[in-house]
Formats: sequence, C-alpha cells, structure tokens
Amino acid sequence: MSVGANIESLMHENRTFAPAASFTAKAHISSQEQYERMYRKSIDHPQEFWAEMAGDLTWLTPYSHVLDDSKPPFFKWFTGGKINIAQNCLDRHVDAGRGDKPAILWEGEPGDAKTLTYRELLTEVSRLANALKSHGVQRGDRVAIYMPMIPEAAVAMLACARIGAVHTVIFGGFAAESLADRMNDAQAVALITADGGWRRGKIVELKANADAALAKAPCVQRCIVVKRTGQDITMRPGRDVWYDDFVSGSSEHCPPAALDSEQMLFILYTSGTTGKPKGVVHTTAGYLLGAYMTCKYVFDLRKEDIYWCTADIGWVTGHTYMVYGPLACGASVVMYEGAPNQPDMDRFWSIIEKYRVSVFYTAPTAIRAFVKWGDQFPQRHDLSSLRLLGTVGEPINPEAWMWYHRVIGGEKCPIVDTWWQTETGSIMCTPLPGITPGKPGSCAIPFFGVDLAVVDRDGQEVAADTGGYLVIRKPVPSMLRTVYGDDERFKKQYYSDIPPYYFTGDGARRDKDGYFWVMGRVDDVVNVAGHRLGTMEVESALVAHSKVAEAAVVGRPDELKGQALCAFVTVKAGIPTDDALKQELKAWVAKEIGAIARPDEVRFTETLPKTRSGKIMRRLLRDIAAGKQAVGDTSTLEDYSVLAKLREDQE
Ligand code: ATP
Ligand code: MG
Repeated sequence: MSVGANIESLMHENRTFAPAASFTAKAHISSQEQYERMYRKSIDHPQEFWAEMAGDLTWLTPYSHVLDDSKPPFFKWFTGGKINIAQNCLDRHVDAGRGDKPAILWEGEPGDAKTLTYRELLTEVSRLANALKSHGVQRGDRVAIYMPMIPEAAVAMLACARIGAVHTVIFGGFAAESLADRMNDAQAVALITADGGWRRGKIVELKANADAALAKAPCVQRCIVVKRTGQDITMRPGRDVWYDDFVSGSSEHCPPAALDSEQMLFILYTSGTTGKPKGVVHTTAGYLLGAYMTCKYVFDLRKEDIYWCTADIGWVTGHTYMVYGPLACGASVVMYEGAPNQPDMDRFWSIIEKYRVSVFYTAPTAIRAFVKWGDQFPQRHDLSSLRLLGTVGEPINPEAWMWYHRVIGGEKCPIVDTWWQTETGSIMCTPLPGITPGKPGSCAIPFFGVDLAVVDRDGQEVAADTGGYLVIRKPVPSMLRTVYGDDERFKKQYYSDIPPYYFTGDGARRDKDGYFWVMGRVDDVVNVAGHRLGTMEVESALVAHSKVAEAAVVGRPDELKGQALCAFVTVKAGIPTDDALKQELKAWVAKEIGAIARPDEVRFTETLPKTRSGKIMRRLLRDIAAGKQAVGDTSTLEDYSVLAKLREDQE
C-alpha cells in the first residue's frame, strides 16, 4: 500500500437533510445526547460497553473476559463464552412465540416465490445440519457454498453455523477457476451448490462450473446439489448427491452446538478491487454482536420491518445484512434471485411494492444504473412503504445520493451511507437515522466502539477538512481475526503501514462537524503537479453534470506534471459523445472544484471495468490510460469484454 504525503480535498458539499421528527420520535437512537453518551462510553470504557451490548444475545455459557488484548493485533473477544449464531437467529424467535412470522420472503427471477417462516427455516437448517454431521462434517471443517440467491443458500450458511463448520461462500457469478482457487485455499471438505440459477433470463451453469472446479480441488469429498432450474447436469456417483436425498430422513431437531466465542464462523474472500482477494476470517460472538447491533441501530430494524438488502450472499454485505443481522433482529427478509432489469428495468421497484418493503439497502453502482435508466421505472410503482434507505460499497456521488433521496425515498426517508469492509464485518461509519442530518456523499459519524480517525503517515490526527489515511485505533468485536492461513499477511496488510492502528486502505477527510468523507482508495490517489488528489471528488464533480451517468478518474504518467488526470466517462442514454462535450466536461470540473482537478483527457466509454460486486476497478483503468496491457489480477473482473472495448476505443 502506498502511504505517502497527505491527500488534498477539493470538494465542498454543503447540503444537509435532517431526519423527520416522526422518524426520530420512534428511533432506537433518538437524541444526539443519547448517541454521545453511548459513544463516549464505548470509547472510554469499551469493556463495560460491549458487555452491556452482549447482554442482548443468547449465550449458552457466559464469557469470562470481554477482551483479551495480550497479543495485538490478534484480539480475542468474549473468551470463555459459548454461543451459537443459528440459535440467536432462529430458535430465539421461535421460542418467543414468533415461529409463524416470515423469516425469508423469496422471489425467483422467473417470478416464482416462496416464504419460509422462522419455524420452517429452523426446521430446514436443523435437517441440513444433521445431514452434514451424519456425513462426517465436523466442527472447524470448511464447507464451500456456491449458490444462486435461493433460500437454501441461507439455510446452508446457518446449518454450518449451527454445528460449528466454517462456511466459505463463493459468489455464484465466479467461474470455475476462482471457485477452485478459493476451495483449495480454504481446503474445503464439502461443496453445496445448485444445478443452476436464473440471471437475466438465462441459466447460470453452476453445477457445470462446479464440476470443472472440483476436478482441480481434490480436498472436496462431497458435493450437495439443490435442484433449482432442472436442466440436465452430470452427477458423479459417490461424490455428488441431490440436496433432497442428502437431507431426507434426517431429524428436524438439531441442538445448537455450544461454540467458543472465537470459533471460526466463516472465511470470505474480499472483492478484489485493489488486488488479489484476501481470505478474511471472522469468528462467532464478536461478529454476531456487530451484525445485530448495527441492524438495530443503523437500520433501526424492528420485528415489523420488511427488510431488503440487494447484495448477493457471495459478499460480506450478503452475510451480515441479508442473513445474520436481520435474522438476529427477527425481521422479515426479502431475497431476490435475479437481475434488476429482468424482465424490465423496474423489477426492484415492483418487488418493493409487492412485499411492502420498509427498509432497502443497495449499492451506489446500482443507484447509478437506475439514474441512467430513468425515473419512469420507479415512478410506475408505489414505494410509500419505504421508511429508510441505505447504501454501501463505494463512496456515493452526491448527485446519485440526491436522486436516491428524491426519487426512491420521496424526500422522506433517511439515507444511511454505511462505510465498512469485508474485514470489519459490520458497519463502522454511518449516519444514525433518527439523529444524524444526512450530507450527500458523506458516511457521517463513527458507530459505537469505533475509534475512527483520519491521520497522517505518522498516525497523527490531521486537522478538519484535511485529507489523510482512514484508520481504526481500537479493537472492535466484529473485526477480522486473520487472513486464512497467513497471520503474517494479516499483520503486514492491516497493521504495518500506520502502526499500531488498523489501516483501512482508504483516504478520507473529516469535516468541521465531525463527518467522515471517504475520498477513495489510497492506491488510487493521483499526484498532479505535487497535489495529491483522491479520485472520488473529481468523479463526483463529473457525475454532477447533467449528461454524465458514471465516471472513473485515474492518473497516467506525464512528464511535466508527474501524473495527468484521465477521466473515463459514461453518459446518460441518448447523449452524443463528441469533442464539444469533452471540452464542456473539462471546463465543468475546473469550475466545480478547481483548475488543478481539470481532467487532461476525457474518454467516453459505454461501461467501466467493475468487480463482480460492482465496484469500479481503477487499477485496470490506470493500465489502459498508460497504454499498457492490463496487468495484475483480473480474476474478479465482472466482464472481460470491457477491457478489450476500452483498448479499442483508445485506438
Ligand atoms: P479488496 O480489499 O480485495 O481490494 P474491496 O476493498 O473492494 O476489495 P470490500 O471489503 O468489499 O472489498 O470493500 C470495502 C471497501 O469498499 C472500503 O474499503 C471502501 O473503499 C469501499 N466502501 C464501502 N462502503 C463505502 C462507503 N459507504 N463509502 C465509501 N467507500 C465505501
Ligand atoms: Mg479492501
């Protein structure tokens, strides 16, 4: 990671949007004073604070110590305690008389649908857990999950959690090679997959990919296959078994295993925006506490809520905010299998209307696509059930935020712009919806227990509105424990740049009101004539132009300036891309945020290279801007043809 001089900030976004008094009145955190009191306690007396919070969870054996910090950065939380996540997500609600409440409201892409109540979900999880046990899967064994977005995906995760097996979910859009790499890295003993899944009206051939991956991953002894699409697949006798046969005859009762607080819960590989993905390890109690608390306070989640997070279970957002957090809170969770533009570009809005979704959580990449498609699609539907909106994954450009606020939220829903990472397990920086006035593009204030700061390379906090490095200075229960099988890489990657702090890899500034503004990744910072600029601010200036849908800015070598700014721009539907517009955009940026940020070059492109989780991969654009063939890891790239197209456009 490149930790150099400080980063300059040019953006000045001054709009604020206060939460409605009616929202505040009912919110879990309903006054600034309440937040400050809790936040202060969480920083000044963390052990007392976390102990109090952990009292909301169901424990099988009480813990003896809140935090063991004797070997930093290998922190251990709630040692001596025994707990089970599946029990906290399921049995707890069934035992309290809420067994008939929908836990999962699922809709397939072709329009088929299914509801699982908390009781039914518990039964399914218990059957699979028993079947896994009876086939020799033991506590600590790794189980790979490569699934479409169907209820069995959540069942598989919870079944592993119930018996203490470690799940590693691999996004269903990955090809065989990536699946094999991850299964080998984790040394998985079993794979749970499906014959296929639906995406944009086509079948994704999951089992065929799995077959190719299994040929290269001899560690996997058993492959359990859910029948989803019903197309022809090959089943290898002795290794492959249909899910229904696998669970048939197994008991519906499976006592939750009493697991150590620090029992490994899952391994998950990061998105790969900045390089080769890392196998992030999360453990049981601290992770659950983070998932539960953030759902309660950030989404203000209640048992009455119909909650929908559009992330795939292959990403950490799908783990924490589609499965563990909302189920621990007892909400009803909407799960959708397919693409947002199938059969038409209003599919998400039709789902919100149909299920009366109250809390909706999605990503900036999706919001930018909706803006590009046009307002007529959401306008076809009644979105009045929504009471809170969220976003995660990348910095959100202020104009995209404004659109989300206006067109989706009807100007009445607070937006929580949540900053966090696969590594942090749960949200670290966010508005609290009842009290924090929203500022478009800012992820606002640190969550409880998070000692977040913007520092210089020596770890000194920088002045307000000065760019620097975003670090976390105190241990937090939901943080990663290590990189799987590589403690050294863990220390080097996260704790060696600005010791002894956890360095996030992101650049940020904090404004005079204490709000954090993520300026992009430190690796993407551009050095123009001695000025170090984050990419986000220039991109947001471009996106604020009425003709622009999306933009990515990178540096390319320049003899005079060190680096020149190269902007890759996607325009809205029907806008002609000519030289006049290039000049207009350059002048626009100079006027919006300053001459220093004026792009030296504007290139129009229909699509930007993104990770499979939808994040812009600037490292690939850097190579293209410099005229190089793309180097580095492209295994997480969503669409290889984008690179070829970008190179063609260059000629
Ligand atoms: P890799 O670490 O492999 O490069 P990645 O960082 O994209 O991949 P994730 O853990 O999925 O993997 O993403 C976390 C990163 O996403 C953060 O470090 C930050 O750069 C960005 N991010 C997430 N949420 C926000 C947000 N609300 N505002 C700004 N940036 C965000
Ligand atoms: Mg990262």
